[in-house]
Amino acid sequence: MSASFYTNFEHIKKVISDHKVQSLNSNEQVKIVAVSKLQPKEKVLEALEYGHRCFGENRVQEAQEKWPDLKKKYPDIELHLIGHLQRNKVAEAVSLFDVIETLDSERLALALKSELDKQGKNTPLFIQVNTGEETQKTGVLPKDINQFTEFCVNELELNIQGLMCIPPVQSEPSIHFAYLKKVALEKNIRHLSMGMSADYEAAIEFGATYIRLGTSLFGPRSV
Ligand SMILES: *Cc1c(COP(=O)(O)O)cnc(C)c1O
Repeated sequence: MSASFYTNFEHIKKVISDHKVQSLNSNEQVKIVAVSKLQPKEKVLEALEYGHRCFGENRVQEAQEKWPDLKKKYPDIELHLIGHLQRNKVAEAVSLFDVIETLDSERLALALKSELDKQGKNTPLFIQVNTGEETQKTGVLPKDINQFTEFCVNELELNIQGLMCIPPVQSEPSIHFAYLKKVALEKNIRHLSMGMSADYEAAIEFGATYIRLGTSLFGPRSV
C-alpha cells in the first residue's frame, strides 16, 4: 500500500479526535465520507484495503461503473450519493446507494417514495439545504425547510436521517454550519453532512456527523 491514503487518513482522524467538541450525536464519532468521484480505481482499492468503507459519489452513472462489483466483494460498504439526483435516475440510485444525501425537492421526494416502495427499501435520506440561497445550487431553501421536512416525514413517511449543505464558496462556512445544526436540533434530525476538504474543521466544530472529503484524502481529481 502506498503511503498517501494512509497518511492522509491518519492525519484527518487525528484532527477529528483532537477536536474536543462533540458531534451532534455526542456518542458517535464524526464519520468520513471518502469522496471517490473522478479518482482512479487504484486509489479506491487502496482505501478499501486500508479498511475504509464509507464512500461518496456525485454522479449515478459514474458510481454504477465503479461500485456494484466492489459492493459484492465488500458487503459492508456504505455508499452515499452526494450529487443532485435526476428523477430519471431514481431507480438506479435507490438500487445502488445506501444513503442519499441530496433530497432537494417535493417532486424528487415523491419519485423516491414510489421507487423505495417498489424496491422494498427504507434508505436513509438527507435533505440538502441551499443555505446560501444560491440560484445555481439545488437544495431546499431555508424558508421552505419546515414545510418540506413535514411533507417528507409526515406525509410520505420517508426515512429522513440527516441534513446536508454545501456553503457558498465566497462566504464564511461557519454561518451555514451553525444554521444547519440549529435546524437539525429543532427537527430532531440525527445527522449533519457538512464540511469538505477546505472547511471540515469548522464543520466538526459545528457538530458534523459526516464530513465529505475528496482531495484531502485522495489527492487531486482527474478532470
Ligand atoms: C466533490 C465533493 C466533495 C469533496 O470535495 P473536496 O473539496 O475534494 O473534499 C464534497 N461534497 C460534495 C457534494 C462534492 O461534490
